[in-house]
Amino acid sequence: MKFSIKDILRPNIASLAPYSCARDEYDGDDATFLDANENPYDTGYNRYPDPMQRELKKRISAIKAVGEDMILLGNGSDEIIDILIRSVCRPSGVDNVVTFIPGYSMYDVSAHINDVEVRSISLTPSFMPDIERYWQVADGNTRLTFICTPHNPIGTAVPLEDIELLCSKSKGLIVVDEAYIDFSSIPSAVTLLDKYPNLVILQTLSKSWGMAGLRLGMCFASREIIAVLNKVKAPYNISSETQKIALSLLNDVKAYEERKNEILRERERLLAELEKMSIFTHVYASQGNFILVRSNHCDEIYKYLVDNKVVVRKRDIPPLIGGGIRITVGTPQENDLLIDLLIKYNTSVE
Ligand code: PMP
Repeated sequence: MKFSIKDILRPNIASLAPYSCARDEYDGDDATFLDANENPYDTGYNRYPDPMQRELKKRISAIKAVGEDMILLGNGSDEIIDILIRSVCRPSGVDNVVTFIPGYSMYDVSAHINDVEVRSISLTPSFMPDIERYWQVADGNTRLTFICTPHNPIGTAVPLEDIELLCSKSKGLIVVDEAYIDFSSIPSAVTLLDKYPNLVILQTLSKSWGMAGLRLGMCFASREIIAVLNKVKAPYNISSETQKIALSLLNDVKAYEERKNEILRERERLLAELEKMSIFTHVYASQGNFILVRSNHCDEIYKYLVDNKVVVRKRDIPPLIGGGIRITVGTPQENDLLIDLLIKYNTSVE
């Protein structure tokens, strides 16, 4: 398939002379560094971090089976969403992005911050991207299409065939947000990267890897796309401490697997308990680390839980998920607390 990111770049990005870091010119750590106006005295943090995060990417490359030069790291995947929009979308009504709703709202927020038009399409009643409608809504100026799989907040996963269909026929970038992929039984779209030069995949260390506080998002795409995004990102966007800690946590695969498997077991237990409660009209099976429920009493349930110091997320978005509440899977003790509270509430209204 013929696609070059060069054909859809904003003109100011195509002609951008990027900031060159002092440290870009010397590949090693054994020199006398008098190039970056750093403080020479060792505080532990007096040196700038590696702008290309080489060690960290090496490890991520091994885990994800993606070439190091096909990886961009961001200050959370939220930063990468913003970088993508700034790279390819001309603002003020010229280009547009397509999102499916209800969905993760940062795509829309980031587009609006950048004054880029958002064309939103409702998910189908089975909570899948409405691909037929997509061809009517997207046009030659659709630069980005965001697909969230597993879907936040519903937990459904989009089949790879649908992603392939979008990639093969679309003139813009198809951005597949796989923030929750490690909790799911579906394969990642990473295997499609060699086939579709307009495919961009977002993942994050915030969820299954338990590093939300560090802020580390990952973008996997062709070398050509990654080279452009590297020009646009802030030079030192990942701190040295973040790089160091992430690397050490990424090396502890056993602990990662144990935590993740416990979350998966708890997700199924929580699902079974929630399904027993008559206060919920719908309880959705999920491929993420959360469960969406719907209730005709969603405001009361939300307030009751907050009054009992349990905070969940209201996702009351009619018509598809009116009365929705998204519950993150916690530790067994946290889930016990939540279940006990909900059983009490359920009994009180029965
Ligand atoms: N994508 C989705 C679908 C999410 O739910 C989230 C976080 N809630 C993100 C991206 C952002 O993740 P990060 O912490 O990497 O910015």
